[in-house]
Amino acid sequence: MADIAPADPKQPAYEAVFAYIRSQPDALPATTVERNAMIWRAVHAALNAAPPAPAVSERLALVESLVADFVDPDPCWFDHHGYCQAHGWVGTDPGCPHGRAKDLGLEETEEATP
Ligand SMILES: [Zn+2]
Repeated sequence: MADIAPADPKQPAYEAVFAYIRSQPDALPATTVERNAMIWRAVHAALNAAPPAPAVSERLALVESLVADFVDPDPCWFDHHGYCQAHGWVGTDPGCPHGRAKDLGLEETEEATP
């Protein structure tokens, strides 16, 4: 059976900081400069262990392209309640998801023909 609980993406950073802390001597550094250096080494350990930022933007691009594929190109049309009859959306807050996606520019565009 697959593990369905999502792993905390920050966990590797926490573990890297704890490992750094455990590697330090029991005595605290005597000077502010040494204490600051220790803190910055812990920050670097966390940043090196954290998932790379491009992974998030790559997932966002994937989700945006999925939304663009799902969006119905037909325009919304609303009844007297403000419900979208074109897409069967009976609510106004939030409004029709097709309209909201188009407002975000997530509508699939026709490729220009040469
Ligand atoms: Zn709609």
